[in-house]
Amino acid sequence: MKAVVYKGPFEVAVEDVDDPVIQYPTDVIVKITSTAICGSDLHMYEGRTDAKPGITFGHENMGIVEEVGSGVTTVKVGDRVVMPFNVACGFCDNCRAGNSAFCLTVNEPGKAGGAYGYVGMGPYGGGQAEYLRVPFADYNCVQLPQGEEHEKDFALLADIFPTGYHSTELAGVKPGETVAVYGAGPVGLMAAYSAQIKGASRVFVVDHVPNRLELVKELGAEPINFDDGDPAQQIRDAIQDYGVDRGIDAVGYQATEPDGNEQPAIVLNQLVDTVRSTGGLGVVGLYVPSDPGAPDEHSAKGELLFRIGRFFEKGQTMGTGQANVKKYAHRLRDLIIAGRAKPGFVVSKELPLADAPDAYERFDKREEGYSKVLLQPAR
Ligand code: NAD
Ligand code: ZN
Repeated sequence: MKAVVYKGPFEVAVEDVDDPVIQYPTDVIVKITSTAICGSDLHMYEGRTDAKPGITFGHENMGIVEEVGSGVTTVKVGDRVVMPFNVACGFCDNCRAGNSAFCLTVNEPGKAGGAYGYVGMGPYGGGQAEYLRVPFADYNCVQLPQGEEHEKDFALLADIFPTGYHSTELAGVKPGETVAVYGAGPVGLMAAYSAQIKGASRVFVVDHVPNRLELVKELGAEPINFDDGDPAQQIRDAIQDYGVDRGIDAVGYQATEPDGNEQPAIVLNQLVDTVRSTGGLGVVGLYVPSDPGAPDEHSAKGELLFRIGRFFEKGQTMGTGQANVKKYAHRLRDLIIAGRAKPGFVVSKELPLADAPDAYERFDKREEGYSKVLLQPAR
């Protein structure tokens, strides 16, 4: 089959690789209809991780079930399904508590759990390909209505819509509250959208990429350009108050200053300044563990100059981590079916798999029109 294969920093190619096969009775094989490129893929694409050339990317996958293992009971050939990016078992302590991003079966305990096509997250192939093997399929497939309706919306249930929603849960967003989101990438936009769904009164989104700030406006949220001065001060001025109720980090360790220099802790510290005392912070932007023997500055980025004293003084709370996508995917799917959520507005391109190398390059440069790309292998 054809698949998007990592060749080395800033290079992917669409190549022939072996078809996935059923390895365990609980597996299914899904024929991919849509698979998205994610900001998380860029960490590997830019050569910031230990990802080795040869791996197939793709953790945001949906499609039609092609083959089922003998131990699969609820998923049938022909079902239309979306796969939350967390590969998980469904029966360990963390999965049973709803924390499927920290599954203890599919990865070493203490590490983030499993994911398709992601370095350090288990041996699972990626779905930017014609077919994907889905383990523990009864747990890892979310059933969708037959047909082709809502393809763009449903595809986002694999990651960014539930991840955005998760960030609002971590921050504790409640109806009527004010919310600041750092990052107007796909994840930040979904966080802002989720805050709106939850009934936030005002939602601010901070970034400095003009076409992304435009999308913030289209969403009915309030764009804040951090090139125009301290975003925390801009937001406090706008609300005429000490701080917003809730803050969300949808940027992570690749945060930059206006001049483009990386400053990994800047958003965390600005969040503390932006949110009122005893308010809540939800951090879904990615931070990497610090590595004392790091050979270069990128892998040492886990050591952050986070101002814990200021955070303590304000008595705030903070939640972090990979999103437990499965906790929310079914209910968010039902909002889409009911016509009450249309997250697909964030998708700017639906392209054949062959266009992946070009799409990666443009998404990596945050080019206009490349805010969120869906690859569609069957086209
Ligand atoms: P993205 O790279 O497209 O978006 C990040 C945005 O942050 C960019 O638009 C950039 O201009 C902006 N930015 C940079 N510095 C900033 C600053 N100082 N202040 C405000 N904005 C700033 O990525 P994305 O796809 O939206 O993902 C965002 C983050 O979420 C990534 O780190 C990704 O790995 C992570 N992620 C986490 C989960 C999870 O489960 N926790 C899931 C998906 C993605
Ligand atoms: Zn993703």
